[in-house]
Amino acid sequence: MKYGRKRVLVTGGAGFLGSHLCERLLDDGCDVLCADNLFTGTKDNIAHLLGNPYFELMRHDVTFPLYVEVDEIYNLACPASPVHYQRDPVQTTKTSVHGAINMLGLAKRVGAKIFQASTSEVYGDPEVHPQTENYRGSVNPIGPRACYDEGKRCAETLFFDYWRQHGLRIKVARIFNTYGPRMHPDDGRVVSNFIVQALEGRPITLYGDGSQTRSFCFVDDLIEGFLRLMATGDDVTGPINIGNPREMTVRELAEMVVAMVGSKSGIVFQPLPADDPLQRRPDITLAKETLGWTPKVTLEEGLERTIAYFRARMQA
Ligand code: NAD
Ligand code: UDP
Repeated sequence: MKYGRKRVLVTGGAGFLGSHLCERLLDDGCDVLCADNLFTGTKDNIAHLLGNPYFELMRHDVTFPLYVEVDEIYNLACPASPVHYQRDPVQTTKTSVHGAINMLGLAKRVGAKIFQASTSEVYGDPEVHPQTENYRGSVNPIGPRACYDEGKRCAETLFFDYWRQHGLRIKVARIFNTYGPRMHPDDGRVVSNFIVQALEGRPITLYGDGSQTRSFCFVDDLIEGFLRLMATGDDVTGPINIGNPREMTVRELAEMVVAMVGSKSGIVFQPLPADDPLQRRPDITLAKETLGWTPKVTLEEGLERTIAYFRARMQA
């Protein structure tokens, strides 16, 4: 950056996490370019930002090269829910891999710092619990989740090869399950599914016996972690786990949502999807030490805010 505001590219900026990130970057005085092909993202997510002269939406697919001048890149473009990323698995792999190559190429040409939205899915169905960054994972390379898991793993490989080979400034975050306002009501993720089902008084769909565990982070906490990671010195590359270590079974989550919504919904059991990880909890020691970061929003508070969002959306 020579003069004026920091120019920041957010790929996937019209999605759930991306829209919150764009909003926060604008609040921090950045000039934000959101590049999104609107596969799962929507203009609604960023409609409130479109009037801001320092915000720009560009309809672009990251599997194609992009020539822009920016100082920092957050690479978030990729469908994230199993239902969405399995809809066109070949495109999912291309988005992760070709998208990473294109964004890394851009970062190299303009000398930008680049952040990768990686995932706890790189750990697969983990045998190490909680998951630490040095755990190499247990991923089925040919299963229905592989397009996402292996795509994200290959993207990490590319990031570290560009760092080793070209000295790029990279920041890799491994994101654990995150929830909050602007999740898609129909993307099949557990928090949005349960809230929408409870609000509509429909049965809660529990996959398997509901004993599998997850750890849920509220979106505001996650975005704070992103910004802190991006602001670290060049010696910090990650990967760093960012997530909330409070672990619970999916069944407990269902009961909590039903109680908080005040719903009469019962539970209906459905088959556990193939390769669904049985347990997941981040070890966030590294994030605490390196970024001084811990999640602040309790699950009760975060769910309250998310339920209010879906309630308002359904009444609109
Ligand atoms: P999302 O589906 O809401 O957002 C993804 C965005 O990427 C959408 O706006 C979509 O239109 C866009 N996109 C998809 N393919 C694209 C392409 N080829 N070119 C340009 N844009 C494209 O999902 P999200 O939850 O906001 O996830 C954002 C990122 O964070 C993803 O990379 C995801 O893998 C990662 N992540 C999310 C979670 C989570 O719990 N939400 C967990 C781990 C990792
Ligand atoms: N799940 C469920 N009912 C639903 C949606 C999801 O029981 O309606 C379970 C799913 O099988 C998984 C967990 O909730 O064990 C989290 O699923 P999600 O798709 O949100 O994210 P994942 O962590 O699997 O990528």
